[in-house]
Amino acid sequence: MQLERNEERLDPRAARSTRSHKQRAEKKSPVRTEFQRDRDRILHSKSFRRLKHKTQVFIAPEGDHFRTRLTHTLEVSQIARTIARALNMNEDLTEAIALGHDIGHTPFGHIGEKVMNDLTDFGFKHSEQSLRVVDRIEYHGKGLNLTDEVRNGILFHSKGMGPIYPKEISKLPDTLEGQIVRISDLIAYVNHDIDDALRAGVIIEKDIPVSSQRVLGKTFAKRIDTIVIDVINRSMENNLKTIFMSEEIQNELISLREFLYHRVYWRKETRESRDKIRKILVTIFEEIKKQPEKYVNPFPEPDPIEKRIIDFIAGMTDRYALNLYKKISLPIYIW
Ligand code: MG
Repeated sequence: MQLERNEERLDPRAARSTRSHKQRAEKKSPVRTEFQRDRDRILHSKSFRRLKHKTQVFIAPEGDHFRTRLTHTLEVSQIARTIARALNMNEDLTEAIALGHDIGHTPFGHIGEKVMNDLTDFGFKHSEQSLRVVDRIEYHGKGLNLTDEVRNGILFHSKGMGPIYPKEISKLPDTLEGQIVRISDLIAYVNHDIDDALRAGVIIEKDIPVSSQRVLGKTFAKRIDTIVIDVINRSMENNLKTIFMSEEIQNELISLREFLYHRVYWRKETRESRDKIRKILVTIFEEIKKQPEKYVNPFPEPDPIEKRIIDFIAGMTDRYALNLYKKISLPIYIW
């Protein structure tokens, strides 16, 4: 069959949709591989569309040119597909994981994620929530019935401030395509967050560490190009045992990430808005707890109501949360 012949051309270490597994058996499509279908289901989901109004780093209403969670996702996908194609990996699988990786992200970026984590004893991680969205929340609680390869790539994409290569191999995705997305997420956000910080006037060009400028390049495009080409070459030299990066480039990427944490993510203004965002989300949580049936889906069953309230709040866009907060907190004539 034509679809299988297309996959025969891939590197032997690439994932094959014909060998993939789903929780519920389904009739195969005559024109799309299982990974293409997964990508399409993610792209057509409501949670995916809501990413357009969720903060990446800069609160979206501040300006139209800043990244949102949606444009971040598209940039990750584009970088990941470039690497996957160059390494003869499965580009459809790579794209599906990339488009789904942040689908469970909260409003207000990582500040929102931290508040969600503090609100209940269940804890909250956006990567786990992304898997929960595709497995148990989307499609009216039936889930999207994605392949195990896509689900695993979504769950293991996140690194936080941890090392680029974790000591335990069990913390890496099972497929090389999943590893490509994991590294592309970092390449995308470090570079576009610098670009947005420059746009916002939070930093200026000469603040960017000199060695990063020298090794990676002086512009946004050049920096991404240098890192992507390094990942492709080193992974090939490494005989595709893992998706790899040279130590020199790795060190520069880590130093740029640290630079961002200190100068952008943890700056004074962010700390101040953190308290305000916490107040907004806590107020919403307490209000919904008083009459959950008014807001919360009956699914996923049999999860406790507090977990479903978190599902609802985590699914909100920034503007939905702000509007709801106004309705809860202000007299009706000020809305
Ligand atoms: Mg991401």
